[in-house]
Amino acid sequence: MTDRKGELAANLAKVERRIADACAAAGRARDEVTLIVVTKTYPASDVRILAELGVRHVAENRDQDAAPKAEACSDLPLTWHFVGQLQTNKVRSVVGYADFVQSVDRSKLVTALSKEAVRTGRELGCLLQVALDAGESGRGERGGVGPGGIGELAGLVAGAPGLRLDGLMTVAPLTGEYAGRERAAFERLMDLSTDLRRSHPAATMVSAGMSTDLEQAVTAGATHVRVGSAVLGVRPRLG
Ligand SMILES: *Cc1c(COP(=O)(O)O)cnc(C)c1O
Repeated sequence: MTDRKGELAANLAKVERRIADACAAAGRARDEVTLIVVTKTYPASDVRILAELGVRHVAENRDQDAAPKAEACSDLPLTWHFVGQLQTNKVRSVVGYADFVQSVDRSKLVTALSKEAVRTGRELGCLLQVALDAGESGRGERGGVGPGGIGELAGLVAGAPGLRLDGLMTVAPLTGEYAGRERAAFERLMDLSTDLRRSHPAATMVSAGMSTDLEQAVTAGATHVRVGSAVLGVRPRLG
């Protein structure tokens, strides 16, 4: 085993243990939670090692970085999640490799994603990114729709050809009433998910929790955690 493979294997084992412990503490089955490894800023060679170690879900947040990496890894049995703020001029590229876009947060983006999914004959999984730092109807500092905008946007995605409404995603806010209160933020997301599933029962994915707060997300009921630095190492400050 190379040094890097050994390092990633050890980190993955630690994260796996944390998820398993959090599931056990919450009385949840381990298989209710899917680990997505966020590989942003790390090379395709790391993605390849992760696949060898059994990782099946990876995420990226910048198309410039992600597109060549996904291309270099197209032979691997991986599901790609796009989790970053997405400009409509990048939609064509992103739909070329992403299986899920977790950062759907405005109607213009829904229209562009739908058009491209139809053009390429793909079905794209969509999660609405919820901003919990924006008030009811504002927009988040780092993207996301306020809770009051979920219903309308969900209806648009559900009715858009080529798109599938799969659930909700959030990032624990750094400002506003939920700053420093990850558990409360994730519980709020769960309540919003319960509301959403009343009209869209298949939209069951709840993507929340990162390296520092995955336990709180699992406790609250997240189905997907997005873990970067705890697996790959601390990033230089640009991702
Ligand atoms: C970078 C990133 C993550 C992972 O963050 P870590 O703190 O490295 O685990 C999760 N979600 C999103 C949207 C990200 O951009």
